[in-house]
Amino acid sequence: VPKPASVGRDPAARAARLAGNNIAVEVKGLRKSYGAQTVLDGIDLTVRAGEVVALLGPSGSGKSTLLRCINRLEGWEDGTIRVGGQSLGTDENGRPLSPRLTAQMRASVGVGMVFQQFNLFGHLTARENIAGPLRWVQGLSRFDADRRCRDLLERIGLAHRADALPRHLSGGQQQRVAIARAVAPAPTVLLLDEPTSALDPELVGEVLEVIRRLAVEEGLAMIISTHQLRFAGDVADRIVFLSGGVIVEEGPAAQILSAPSHPLTVRFLSSMT
Ligand code: ADP
Ligand code: MG
Repeated sequence: VPKPASVGRDPAARAARLAGNNIAVEVKGLRKSYGAQTVLDGIDLTVRAGEVVALLGPSGSGKSTLLRCINRLEGWEDGTIRVGGQSLGTDENGRPLSPRLTAQMRASVGVGMVFQQFNLFGHLTARENIAGPLRWVQGLSRFDADRRCRDLLERIGLAHRADALPRHLSGGQQQRVAIARAVAPAPTVLLLDEPTSALDPELVGEVLEVIRRLAVEEGLAMIISTHQLRFAGDVADRIVFLSGGVIVEEGPAAQILSAPSHPLTVRFLSSMT
């Protein structure tokens, strides 16, 4: 996979790229608990179209829960989440919608998600995993769906594996297909939850490269939880550091990585190297 220029390191390029862009995701005062345990404790986060945010933080800090709330895979007690200006999972009066309507809305509002464990349809080929949902969910014609799919398979370096079933692909190849599938409908925001943590170390690089490439080429808003610091520094515009369900520090990736100011961030970063 050819390497496009890195996007995260040049503040001027970043500012030019994001200037005037719409707000893709707006989280305000988000609170969520499991039983007596508060897992997200007042999260405020705004992400613009084209902006790549890396979500860092120790295990159990609430990264997955935040991403799952944004995708409305989880409910919450307090706060609002808007994607592309729409409040997902509630009607105009703030009442919860049925799961079915929520799923339809998720597709139309445009949240794509990539999980640790690939989650491809096991009985479908790589091509059908990507093109199928474009037809069934997005309503594209077979011609348009196949064209978009061919283009993506080309760009993730898997055109030659289009007819392979997931079990005949490596973990890295499966995750590349999962990323292409999530990117295919051009969602307002792409959420990636530790997309390389289930992979053997030698397969991590190819997956990060595909994420980097599609982030640049598609100009998507992206929120990615990851423990890959170098990748975060290369690709993310902004790092958000979560601890105990609270954003304790955020800022430009280069600044957070080289000169973190909060003691918890300092401790976390030094534990990673
Ligand atoms: P991270 O992704 O940063 O590791 P999580 O969002 O998975 O953190 O978890 C945050 C906290 O919520 C942890 O204490 C975890 O044990 C708890 N938690 C996550 N999912 C559930 C669940 N389905 N039921 C109960 N507790 C949960
Ligand atoms: Mg997690």
